Amino acid sequence: MVVIGAGQAGLSSAYHLRRAGFEPERDFVVLDHSPRPGGAWQFRWPSLTYGKVHGMHSLPGMELTGADPARPSSEVIAAYFASYEEMFDLRVRRPVDVRAVREGGGGRLLVETSDGTWSTRALINATGTWDRPFWPRYPGQETFRGRQLHTAIYPGPEAFRGQRVIVVGGGASGTQHLMEIAPYAAATTWVTRRPPVYNEGPFDENLGRAAVALVDERVRAGLPPQSVVSVTGLPLNDAIRQARADGVLDRLPMFDRITPSGLEWDDGRRVDADVILWATGFRPAIEHLAPLKLRGPGGGIQAEDTRVVADPRIHLVGYGPSASTIGANRAGHAAVRDIKRLLAEAPVAV
Ligand SMILES: Cc1cc2nc3c(=O)[nH]c(=O)nc-3n(C[C@H](O)[C@H](O)[C@H](O)COP(=O)(O)OP(=O)(O)OC[C@H]3O[C@@H](n4cnc5c(N)ncnc54)[C@H](O)[C@@H]3O)c2cc1C
Repeated sequence: MVVIGAGQAGLSSAYHLRRAGFEPERDFVVLDHSPRPGGAWQFRWPSLTYGKVHGMHSLPGMELTGADPARPSSEVIAAYFASYEEMFDLRVRRPVDVRAVREGGGGRLLVETSDGTWSTRALINATGTWDRPFWPRYPGQETFRGRQLHTAIYPGPEAFRGQRVIVVGGGASGTQHLMEIAPYAAATTWVTRRPPVYNEGPFDENLGRAAVALVDERVRAGLPPQSVVSVTGLPLNDAIRQARADGVLDRLPMFDRITPSGLEWDDGRRVDADVILWATGFRPAIEHLAPLKLRGPGGGIQAEDTRVVADPRIHLVGYGPSASTIGANRAGHAAVRDIKRLLAEAPVAV
């Protein structure tokens, strides 16, 4: 078996494979193209401290306890994942880049990588979204004389000292960037496609479950998944209340064009800027599955729980409804249960 990705989803899957009696390297391999343990967390900006991430669930079988809330999450989680891999002897192979997965014949898939090809009867794809930032295109974008960057390479707020910054995007990252940057920047402007939806109620399990159910419905219908957060709205906490009162979250609708000096709207409005920060989210990093032609007419990969409907050898873990730390934990378990059943029905080498 092959697990692609060693973030929350891949490690949870590997843990459950071990618990089900499969041995690393003999029965399964975990491949990851990042240089170190930590999944996408290792790349997140230093000002995203552990105290600022909410609802980060530990991996199964080993709690993350006593972490200093002032330490960057990138360090806390990278260290935790490294101990986890060691504790359960998961033997992640890195850096190994999976370039393509193809039909191998005889019920097998071929996983082509930077380090050779694996042949497998079952594949757990746990490649997250971080490697595929979504960067929309707008007229005039290439003419902008300032700097443009995406959340994926956001360096933290100090880099914007004294600058006029436009943040595009109405999600959690966009609001967090604005609240961090505003005290340093000369001016900030927020632009979003839709008016932001604030969630006044408690951000509790019921809301989380309802959001997951909505994304699950989309994936079952073969539509591209939305992120779970995009359907829960923005939590109206004290920091957001304060930022709204300070005018940091006054939002403008989408502009009509980008000019060399900033943004313009057809109604004559314009905003000059030094930086455009695109907080426009990410898409599933699944290009390596393209040769299998799993996408249906709805534009997404239809899946039931984690199993791909068009090809039950493949499980998508951390995808759509399971794209959260708790979702990834559960999905890893579900995928392994399903693979065990599949192998029990046709017990040949994996
Ligand atoms: C800023 C931010 C804050 C967040 N905060 C929270 C939070 O507080 N709570 C929460 O539940 N969720 C949070 N999330 C979502 C959370 O990060 C994810 O749900 C979860 O951590 C993703 O785990 P994953 O294993 O699916 O993906 P990742 O952590 O992205 O791991 C995927 C792994 O796959 C590897 N990979 C990708 N493509 C390939 C390839 N072709 N070949 C080999 N390896 C590959 C990558 O190197 C990576 O290590 C946050 C997300 C962001 C962006």
